[in-house]
Amino acid sequence: MVPSVYELQSADLALLLAGEPRYRVEQVWHGLWSEGRDVGDITTVPKALRQRLAAEFPPALEVVNDVSSDLGATRKWVFRLHDGATIETVLMGYADRVTVCISSQAGCAMGCTFCATGQAGFSRQLSIGEVIEQVMFAARAAAPRRLSNVVFMGMGEPLANYPVTVGVVKRLHEYRGMSARHLTVSTVGVAPAIERLGAEGLPLTLAVSLHAANNETRNELVPLNRRYPLERLYEACEKWLATTSRRLSFEWALIDGVNDTDQAMHELANYAGDLRAHVNLIPLNPTPGYLVMGTRSERVHEFRNGLEELGINVTVRNTRGRSIDAACGQLASVTNGHKSNVALRSR
Ligand code: SAH
Ligand code: SF4
Repeated sequence: MVPSVYELQSADLALLLAGEPRYRVEQVWHGLWSEGRDVGDITTVPKALRQRLAAEFPPALEVVNDVSSDLGATRKWVFRLHDGATIETVLMGYADRVTVCISSQAGCAMGCTFCATGQAGFSRQLSIGEVIEQVMFAARAAAPRRLSNVVFMGMGEPLANYPVTVGVVKRLHEYRGMSARHLTVSTVGVAPAIERLGAEGLPLTLAVSLHAANNETRNELVPLNRRYPLERLYEACEKWLATTSRRLSFEWALIDGVNDTDQAMHELANYAGDLRAHVNLIPLNPTPGYLVMGTRSERVHEFRNGLEELGINVTVRNTRGRSIDAACGQLASVTNGHKSNVALRSR
């Protein structure tokens, strides 16, 4: 595989730049991490060196599609990697923050029935460099605003690519200076990996994609629940809280008639309440392989109010980028070669 320049630690860079004045390492490092520049664009170093580095480390990501919606506030890129695999990255601008939603794998092997990425299947793991380059690409596109948040909610299951996820979080924290509150890893619930992650002492926020709080329904929506049922997941969440003292979030994609009933609300309130978790409600985004509707907006609000009355901290997340298949769960339309819900407009 062609290495990404973001695979390098500063000692690797020092070796690579042996023979150059010492301060060059610092200049290149600063250009890459603080300024988020393409290596060929670090103008503080001489042109010949820049060109040498750019030839040795071509960008990992080639843009094959670039679409925007929400009056330009949401932007999605489809990137082709060196071996032809494709991934998607979404940039979302809000009044108070700029968030990038990154992919941790090309595809996903977890097979959640309602998720377009799950329907498309797994291609391969991403490398640390391929993940970091998504962040840096988005940071450049966000300028002059500063990219403030990174969420691992694009394609793939970050805890099924554990070393890369941990490596990316560490580097974004240490080298880019991003704070724990601004880095969110979302997982479908790989219980042992949640425990292992908790023990790393990493600066991050954990979101668990729950979607159902009884095993029968969760087995249908999230096949991994057969391996790590709700009781096992609960144990992992308790350990996470005990080791990190950091709040947990639960993601809940509201699906009409499936997990938006009063019974589902009470099950969720019991499960989340005992863990003092925050609940994020996301109306389901329609995907070609799952012919069930998202919950109507009146019911979404009833469901939210009901949870609040049961003492749960709850937010309704709006679905950015739905019209360009950029919302949660829709990231697969190009990768699997299926027709997307909408025609992708090139910019
Ligand atoms: N694999 C990880 C992270 C990527 S999925 C996980 O499952 O958590 C990011 C989020 O999108 C998850 O909460 C997932 O459940 C949600 N999602 C997937 N398909 C969706 C859909 N069709 N509508 C709404 N949310 C969806
Ligand atoms: Fe994978 Fe997450 Fe989609 Fe499930 S919801 S298939 S874990 S990306």
